Parts: sequence; structure tokens; C-alpha cells
Amino acid sequence: METHLPTALLSSLHSLKGFEHDAFIAAHKISNQITSVRFNPNKKFNVVHSALDVSEEIPWFENGFYLNKRPSFTLDPLFHAGAYYVQEASSMFLGEVLKQTCPLGHSLKVLDLCAAPGGKSTLIQSLLSSDSFLISNEVIKSRVTILNENVIKWGAANIVVTNNDPKDFQRLQNYFDIIVVDAPCSGSGLFRKDPEAVNEWSMDNVSLCSQRQQRILSDILPALKSNGILIYSTCSYSEDENEAIGDWLIDNHDLEGLGINIKDEWNITETISAKQKTPGYRFYPDKVKGEGFFISAFRKTNKLNSNHTSKAKSSSFEKLTQTEFSNVSKWINKDAGSVNLLKWKDDIFALPNSLLQEYATIQNSLYIKKIGVNIGTMIRNEMIPSHQLAMSHILSPEIPFIDLEKESALNYLRLNTINAENTDKGWNIVRFSERPLGFIKSLQNRINNYYPKEWRILHK
Ligand code: SAM
Repeated sequence: METHLPTALLSSLHSLKGFEHDAFIAAHKISNQITSVRFNPNKKFNVVHSALDVSEEIPWFENGFYLNKRPSFTLDPLFHAGAYYVQEASSMFLGEVLKQTCPLGHSLKVLDLCAAPGGKSTLIQSLLSSDSFLISNEVIKSRVTILNENVIKWGAANIVVTNNDPKDFQRLQNYFDIIVVDAPCSGSGLFRKDPEAVNEWSMDNVSLCSQRQQRILSDILPALKSNGILIYSTCSYSEDENEAIGDWLIDNHDLEGLGINIKDEWNITETISAKQKTPGYRFYPDKVKGEGFFISAFRKTNKLNSNHTSKAKSSSFEKLTQTEFSNVSKWINKDAGSVNLLKWKDDIFALPNSLLQEYATIQNSLYIKKIGVNIGTMIRNEMIPSHQLAMSHILSPEIPFIDLEKESALNYLRLNTINAENTDKGWNIVRFSERPLGFIKSLQNRINNYYPKEWRILHK
């Protein structure tokens, strides 16, 4: 079976470099489905490698792998442990673009503007230094929930999740070193994965998407520093949403396009925009092992901008008392790098230095859904640990744990009662293949399961 591609789409692609009609159609056979994952470098993944049926490495991204077949990820406890992220292979090329255009070893402020469900954000975070931070933003409120969940599972302390409209970022003029705009688009690049989406495609929608992309970019560009890098991507094949956006960006903003070195064997197609001759990178499914994708990078060239100088109000975090500090510090991994423990109402947060310095500025400008790691809640000087702590590298290895086999681990994730005799009384981490899944509390005659209710597996 093959996806029936709209004739108007096919004829609009005819003159584009790299487009080959027959091969393109043949690649849209549903049987050509490809599954790929990206391992979490913050979580040991030798075990993941053996648990998944890995076929080969993705040529342009280390830690990215194709699988021989698509397993039920829901029924893999390591998926819930955040040990890997299921991500389409072409879009992992963002990693190479970041490496070639950005000073990744430095302390950077990065924005992923259109972030849900979190594929690009978790990839970006894995390439940043620990003294950098990422704001992972999603404008649509209902989609922030899944973004937040994926960011929590990823376990990094240097991500802030926000729920703002692109124009809200104008409160942070000249602030970011890197802005990634993985724009909402007409979606033709994903037709093989989602053949139903073909019914919603039209030339009118392509042109509406193109206008919306321009609006989003105009709104966000003031937040990019002079010399900062803008990375723009879509999962559309249409020139109006890709190369033409590059031309529009250079015509209307102080930006220069950046070239990326690509290896011949990657089979990525470099295109040059019609007017400004700015480079872009196309992924055609008949040429690469992945779905349709487009990406381009730009540097902001205006030299007139001053640095961001908003007067930050003081942050609402408080310091911990001596007693609170000594009760909380036993939960913290001494090797986790420097994190600051702070309190907001009864909740305790671990913030890396990079976020501590910027927190007040971000709080004054944006609607924050998550910042750093919320490690728990103080109740009468005792801390009830949170799921975020279980998922993060901040968790102390000294906390007692129990290792479960797959069926028991799935039972835990279904929020069922688990049998765990001989556990230490009190808080324990539940692990599967060495990866923490969450907390339980072992009482005299029962065990309480603290896996988040809203995340429990419903699948039998
Ligand atoms: N970057 C994500 C990832 O890798 O997982 C995928 C992002 S998806 C291509 C585009 C996102 O833009 C969606 O989450 C959508 O909700 C969001 N979006 C829709 N309209 C928007 C707008 N007007 N401004 C900013 N983002 C928008």
C-alpha cells in the first residue's frame, strides 16, 4: 500500500533540486516505515542498546539509532525512565547544524520556541554545556503537558518549560545566543508516517502556514542577540515554507545564511534559495533513511543592539533553613555538579548556577511551567520526594532502591500494588535495568506507589 500524494503537491515540487517524482512516490509505500530512537546521554544506555532491537547508527547523529522493528514503547519500562526518546531520524540533523554553527562549549542561553512534544528540546539539551540553559516553549496550553512530561523524563536540570506566545519574548530583547524555530507547517514531510494527514493538505494551507511562519519569526527575532544563531526547520516539502522563508528572512531582517558541511553519503540535498542564494538542507525519503525535513541556519548581523538590560525584580525563591537543608541534602547526588537548593512556598527546587542568575529575569517575562528540578515538598521539615527527582541525575545514589523484573516494573507503572519484600522501610527508588522509574514508600504492612497518576500506563 502507498500513500496517495496530492497532485498539486507533486507538481509544486517538480522544479526543486533533488526532487525525483517516481522515486519519491515509491518511497511513500507504507511498508517503508522507519523507527528511530535517540539515547539519553545523561542516563546509562548500554542496557537500552541491548533491550531495543537496534539495527544501525543514524549517520548524522551519534546516540541516534534505527530499530529493526517498532516495539510497543508503552510496554518498555526504559521508555518511561527517559532512557531514550523516539524521534524521527531526519530531524536529528539539528544536532549537526548546532555543532557546526554554535559555540556549544560556551555558556549559552538557548530558546526552542515551538517545542512540544519535546524532540528537538531534549536533543538540544544533550549538546549544551552544564552552564548553559534551554527555554523550551510551547504556545498551545494543551500541548505543554506532554512537553513537560518528556522534559521531566529527560531528567536535565537546565531546562525551563514555558507557555508563551512568540511575541511575549519581545520582553527579552537581545537575550538568546541561539533560537530554534521548528515551525508549525503543512506537514507533507510526514505523509508516510501519517497518511490521513494528506486529506488536510492544500496549497491554501501551505500559503497560510508560510504567512504564520513569517509572523512567528518576526515576533521572535528581537529576542536574538547580535551574532546569535537562528535555526529554522519544518517537516514540509513546500518551497514557500522553506527556501522562500530564507529569502524573506534575509530581505526583512539583519541575517546572513550559513552553510553546513554535509557528507556525500548522507544523501542530504543542499538547496540555494531563489533570491538571496541562501543555503537550506532537504531530506527526501527516497534519498535518506528518514522522513521529509528541511533545515536552515542564519546569523544575526546587526551590530547596533545593546545587551539585554531589563531590570529584574528579585526572585520569589527563598533560602532553606539549616534544618531544611540538612534534611534535603541527603537526597542530592554529591557528584551532580553545583546545584542551588531553594524553596518556593513548600516546594524545594534544585537550580544550576546558570538558571539561578537568570531566574528573576525569566520569571518577570514568561509564564513558567517548570524550572530546574522540583525535588520535593517540605512537610514539617521532612521532604516528600517528587517524581522529578527520581528522573534526574540529581538523585543521590545512596537512596535505597529495589530492582524489578519487566512485568513487576510494568505493574509499578500501572500504579498497581507491587510485591517488594525485604525493602528498607521508608522511601525507595524502583529501578528497571538500573534506571530509576519512580518512588515507593514502604510502610509496616504495605507499600505505597508514588508513580504520577496522570502518567500511569493504561495499556494491559
Ligand atoms: N519541535 C517539536 C519537536 O521536535 O518535538 C515539534 C514542533 S511542531 C513541528 C510545531 C509546534 O509549534 C507545535 O507544538 C505547535 O503547537 C506549535 N505552534 C502552533 N502554532 C504556533 C504559533 N503560532 N506560534 C508558535 N508555535 C506554534
